[in-house]
Amino acid sequence: MKFGGTSVGDDKCIGRVVSIIDHYYKTGSEIAVVVSAMSGVTDQLHAIAEEVEKSPDNPPIESFIASLRTKHKKILDLVAKDESEAVMNEIDIRLENLKNILTAVHNLRELTPRSKDYIISFGERLSAQIVSAALRQAGISSVPLNGCEAGIITNSNHGCAHVLPESEPRIKSRVVPLMQDGVPVIMGYMGCTEQGIVTTLGRSGSDYSAAVVGAAIDADEVWIWTDVDGIMTSDPRIIDDARVIPAISYLEAMELSYFGAEVLHPRTIEPAMQKGIPVRVKNTFNPSAEGSCVLADEHRDERVVKAITFIDKVSLINLAGAQMFGRPGVARSIFTALAESQVNVMMISQGSSESNISLIVDDEHLNSALKALNHVQQSGYIREVTFDRDVSAVAVVGVGMAGAPGIAGRVFTALGRANVNLMMISQGSSEVNISFVVKHEDGKKALRVLHDEFRLSEDSQ
Ligand code: ADP
Ligand code: ASP
Ligand code: MG
Repeated sequence: MKFGGTSVGDDKCIGRVVSIIDHYYKTGSEIAVVVSAMSGVTDQLHAIAEEVEKSPDNPPIESFIASLRTKHKKILDLVAKDESEAVMNEIDIRLENLKNILTAVHNLRELTPRSKDYIISFGERLSAQIVSAALRQAGISSVPLNGCEAGIITNSNHGCAHVLPESEPRIKSRVVPLMQDGVPVIMGYMGCTEQGIVTTLGRSGSDYSAAVVGAAIDADEVWIWTDVDGIMTSDPRIIDDARVIPAISYLEAMELSYFGAEVLHPRTIEPAMQKGIPVRVKNTFNPSAEGSCVLADEHRDERVVKAITFIDKVSLINLAGAQMFGRPGVARSIFTALAESQVNVMMISQGSSESNISLIVDDEHLNSALKALNHVQQSGYIREVTFDRDVSAVAVVGVGMAGAPGIAGRVFTALGRANVNLMMISQGSSEVNISFVVKHEDGKKALRVLHDEFRLSEDSQ
C-alpha cells in the first residue's frame, strides 16, 4: 500500500491511514507500506535547494529547518504521543544533516545532481518516521526504512533514476521478514546506487517505489491510496464530470500516466505488469469506494475510448530541410544528440516527405534540446529548427481503438467543429492512443470537447 502526499498531509489524514492499515492488517493481510512526503514538502525542498545555491546573501536555512521541524513535530505529537520524544530525536538528527548539506551547497554555490537528490529525499525521510510511529502507537509493530535500506538499488541518473533488477532479491530479503509480525514503512521516491549514493526516482516517484516493492515481494496486489476515487476519464480538476474507470488494462494505464494523468507515475505499471500484479487505485478519504483496478485483462466494454489526458508546459520543435529526405542516419543523429543532452522526447511525428520532423519535449528541456539540435544542424541536413514554447499535448486513450474504424475521424471532426487548431498529430502503431498538440489556450477546450464527444461522463454499465 502506498499513501501519497495528501494522504499523509496532517494528523487527521495520518489517523485515516493508520485505520486503513489497521483494518486490513487485523483481517489477515500482510502489508508493506510506502509513503510520500507530506504534501508540499518536496516542493519546498526543491525551492530551498535552488535558493541556497543562487542566493548571494545569507539564505534562510535556519528558519526553513525550524518551520519543517515545527510542522512535523506538531503532527508527530498528535499521532504518536507515547514515542514523540524518541522519534523527534531521530528527526532532529536528520534535520541537522539537512542543515549541513544546505549550508555546504550555499558555501560552494554549487548544487550538484547528487546533492540535490539527497536534499529532496528528506520529505519522505520525515513522513515515514511519523507514519511508522503512528502505527506503533496503534499497537502495530513497525520500522521505517529508507529506500536504500529497503534494497532499492538504482542507476545514477539523478533526479530520474531507474531501479535496477538486482534490487529484487534485496528488497525481498529485507522487507518480507519485517512483514511477518508488523508493517514496515518504506520511504518512497528514493533509492541509492550500488555505492550507496542517494538517488530519486522523478517527481511523484513514490508510486514507482510501491510497484517495485510490490513486484519484489510478489504481492497479491499493489494499492495506490490517493485523494480521488480512482483513475478517471480525465483530470477531475479540469473536467468536473469526469468519471471513475472501474477496470483498465496495464497498457491503457501506462498511456494515461505517460500522457499526463498525474494519478500514477508513468513507470508504476511496468514492474507490476511484469509479474501480473493488479494495481488498485483507491481514495484514502473514501476508502469504501471500489476504486480502479489496473489488470492484464483488457476488460473491453463497448466504449472504445477510455480517457482523455492532457500535458501542459511542453514545447513543439520542428526540424525542416529537403536534405533530410531519404538520408539514412539523420534521425539517428537527431535523437542521439537529444539523448546525450538528457532531453526526453515525449512525442515524435514525421511528414511522409521526410523533409520535416516534429518533436515534443518538456518546456524545461527546450533550451538543452535547441542547443543539441544546433549542433546537428551544422551537419547541413537540417535547414531550419523552429519551436513553439508552452503548447499543450492531448491524448485520447483506449485499447478498443485498435481495429475500431472512424475514431480518428471523430476526434478531428469534433475538434474542427470547435475551432481547435492542431499543430501536430501522432499515433503509435499500437493504436492505444491518438495524441496531438494544440496551442496552450486550446488545451482545456480540446479536453472538454472530446470528453463530450465520447460521452465519457456517462456510465457505461
Ligand atoms: P498523491 O499525492 O496521492 O500521489 P497526486 O496529486 O500525485 O496524488 O495524484 C492525484 C491527482 O491526480 C488527483 O487529485 C487528480 O487531481 C489528478 N489527476 C489528473 N488526471 C487524473 C485522472 N485521469 N484520474 C484521476 N486523477 C487525475
Ligand atoms: N514526494 C515526491 C514528490 O512530491 C514523490 C511523491 O510524492 O510520490 O514528487
Ligand atoms: Mg502522485
